[in-house]
Amino acid sequence: RFRKRDLECRRDIEQFIPAFLSIYDSLIPPEEEKAKQEQLLKSLERLVNSEWPEARLYLYGSCANSFGVSKSDIDVCLAIDEQDVNKADILLKLAEILESDKLQNVQALTRARVPIVKLMDPVTGISCDICINNILAVVNTKLLKDYAQIDARLRQLAFIVKHWAKSRGVNETYHGTLSSYAYVLMCIHFLQQRKPAILPCLQEMEATYMVTVDDITCAYFDEVGSLSEFGAQNKESIARLLWEFFDYWAFRHDYANAVISVRTGSILSKRAKDWTRRIGNDRHLICIEDPFEISHDLGRVVDKYSIKILREEFERAAYILQYDPNPCVTLFEPY
Ligand code: ATP
Ligand code: MG
Repeated sequence: RFRKRDLECRRDIEQFIPAFLSIYDSLIPPEEEKAKQEQLLKSLERLVNSEWPEARLYLYGSCANSFGVSKSDIDVCLAIDEQDVNKADILLKLAEILESDKLQNVQALTRARVPIVKLMDPVTGISCDICINNILAVVNTKLLKDYAQIDARLRQLAFIVKHWAKSRGVNETYHGTLSSYAYVLMCIHFLQQRKPAILPCLQEMEATYMVTVDDITCAYFDEVGSLSEFGAQNKESIARLLWEFFDYWAFRHDYANAVISVRTGSILSKRAKDWTRRIGNDRHLICIEDPFEISHDLGRVVDKYSIKILREEFERAAYILQYDPNPCVTLFEPY
């Protein structure tokens, strides 16, 4: 129904800038929330250190990458030496420690794909998942946060895209659609590709930050304070960028051959990555390269049914931005 592509934006898209910006403003978490999260992290760290003095806790995911909306749960990573003990035992011990404190709904999910302990803190009302030694997630959280500081349009675009994806039911990896992390990478890549570019490729620049995690070297330029003028030559507004983003994923992305890569700031070929055929459950129907685990396709959760749903949703969004009288409402209508 929507598969009809216009070559360009045929309306005054800029008239919707204020409405999109006010949606963005309404999604940003208030400052107090951040303080509460830090407070919870501190008290968790105290508890953890009473058992493991060397262990550290890190926030990761949307509570720390600056793409988190108001009232999200927090993701915490416990960094601990697991040489003589296994993860399950650490998690069970952790659950025991937390339970004996004032925390509620403590649950150790030792058999999940990513084993975690879940809990709820009655003091702050925050729910939290704690995983063990998922250091790459902590590092990719920092990368996203650093990109967000370069140009305000990244946060605007990603908040609105995430809000759209949640409203339309296409932000559920267990149903074969994409994670929030994947959507943010799509936004970063898209802004790297604008002409003139709105974002640089930090991993192609001289590294000022470097860590090695599980034999993967993560290195990039992280002195982003010096890049605040990077995107200034490009004057595209959030309304225009949304139109272009959905137009790209609806009509211009080469699903058969292309891999988007934030790491190189370019499009790679599926052939070069050997992502041309199904291996196990990885079908590579939409390909998004992880910036550090480069053999990892964030689109691998997408199957032959959900790719159709996803592409129809991109087309619907593109259509709405082109024709709908009230795109700032229609775009987010529940499915
Ligand atoms: P939300 O606001 O929806 O909770 P989120 O930013 O917390 O968004 P998630 O998709 O829940 O996003 O992922 C949490 C974090 O876990 C990401 O920021 C990322 O660091 C890491 N992560 C998630 N999925 C992957 C993945 N497939 N590969 C590597 N890291 C991932
Ligand atoms: Mg999360």
